[in-house]
Amino acid sequence: PSPLGPTPKLVIDLERLAQLPKEKAGALARYAATIQSQRGDYNGKVLSIRQEDLRSLAVIYDKSPTELTEELISWGVLDPEARRAVEAF
Ligand code: C2E
Ligand code: C2E
Ligand code: C2E
Repeated sequence: PSPLGPTPKLVIDLERLAQLPKEKAGALARYAATIQSQRGDYNGKVLSIRQEDLRSLAVIYDKSPTELTEELISWGVLDPEARRAVEAF
């Protein structure tokens, strides 16, 4: 096991996401809304997503998962800890 502990989760900050301009964050916001609807999980301030979903989002944004993760960290939507979740791919 890693000395840093288990692989961290990918946790989207939904309040931060809602503050971002649609041109940037629209696709991610729609994706997150779909997951919330599938789970019936509407009241959270955050949403834990699957690693697999970050791969799908990277295709949508035409970036590598690593590049998309850096962008989402720079927007404040993902915690810098998320880097370790993506390294584990
Ligand atoms: P599913 O993939 O067939 O999962 C059925 C149920 O198994 C989920 O119901 C949830 O209770 C549990 N489950 C599956 N994978 C996980 C997991 O990694 N962690 C946890 N905590 N539970 C898990 P739920 O939440 O009502 O979701 C219903 C359906 O909505 C899922 O069916 C799936 O098709 C979709 N869904 C929900 N959340 C996500 C997501 O984050 N990503 C994707 N791609 N689909 C999701
Ligand atoms: P955690 O995963 O560190 O999550 C901490 C808190 O962040 C959760 O407290 C919840 O308020 C919020 N949170 C994280 N992901 C989501 C999300 O996708 N939707 C929403 N609405 N909120 C989210 P909470 O609910 O009291 O859970 C405390 C701890 O219990 C979690 O810590 C986790 O360790 C465990 N837990 C709760 N639900 C699940 C689950 O579905 N699967 C697993 N494996 N653990 C869970
Ligand atoms: P988690 O619930 O703590 O699950 C951690 C990892 O355990 C998941 O990482 C997945 O690899 C595995 N896992 C847990 N439950 C299941 C399951 O029912 N089926 C399968 N095939 N694998 C399972 P992953 O997929 O990256 O998901 C990360 C986190 O996203 C989950 O943490 C959970 O908080 C959330 N999540 C993912 N899918 C669902 C879902 O369908 N419903 C809900 N409510 N939460 C989900």
